[in-house]
Amino acid sequence: MSRSVLVTGGSRGIGLAVARRLSADGNRVAVTYRSGEPPDGLLAVPCDVLDAAAVDEAFTTVEAELGPVEVLVANAGITKDTLLIRMSEGDFTSVIDTNLTGTYRVVKRAARNLMRARSGRVVIISSTAALSGVVGQVNYGSSKAGLIGMARSLAREFAPRGVLVNVVAPGLTDTAMSTALSDTTRDSIVGRIPLGRMATPEEVAATVRFLASEDASYITGAVIPVDGGMGMGH
Ligand code: NDP
Repeated sequence: MSRSVLVTGGSRGIGLAVARRLSADGNRVAVTYRSGEPPDGLLAVPCDVLDAAAVDEAFTTVEAELGPVEVLVANAGITKDTLLIRMSEGDFTSVIDTNLTGTYRVVKRAARNLMRARSGRVVIISSTAALSGVVGQVNYGSSKAGLIGMARSLAREFAPRGVLVNVVAPGLTDTAMSTALSDTTRDSIVGRIPLGRMATPEEVAATVRFLASEDASYITGAVIPVDGGMGMGH
């Protein structure tokens, strides 16, 4: 079944792997991009999730080209790691505004058509940082934990309309975001992962693909860790 899919932050990393996987399955896939080059072979629309008007415009373009969005993957996210005592209010609020409020903006824009269609999927990319806490990530952990509360409330609001909402919580994944960590920090995290390595973006994408598929028709409000066993299911 070919569906209209939109992945935010799909120009690289996990978002691009999700987009490529869902496209390989025969879906009509669009990604949003902000900086850098748009990826080949996918409909790419410029969009900064900080800007509600840009979000609206991106959806309008995707709807015109691919049809109303049936699967939304809210993936765009940033980190601004530092210890709380050094974390400015700007460091805190910019991460919340991108990761949490940005997701609110895109889900809100998608909701109208999803509700009307009485079917569809929303997959939100959180993080194991929401579940276990990470030194230096008071801002990021707050935003990613907020996404879990958001998803569970959405799951209840949308269930009567047949729209399922789930969360994927990746552990350390091999992308630009993890490359930004120091070797010492990365090695120390990998040392605590039972499978002894980072996830690939494709491994995270495979779980998103499952949640977007017919096989996940009775799953909503769930949080699925993809973390090499770090949290043992939590
Ligand atoms: P990347 O930094 O490689 O990609 C992040 C993507 O989000 C980029 O496409 C980026 O666009 C986009 N983005 C950031 N801010 C905005 C914005 N304001 N508006 C629109 N797009 C934006 O990271 P990952 O692929 O690793 O991260 C993807 C998601 O997975 C994030 O939500 C992240 O928090 C989460 N995650 C990542 C983990 C990891 O270890 N890598 C672990 C757990 C969760 P641009 O190119 O313009 O910057």
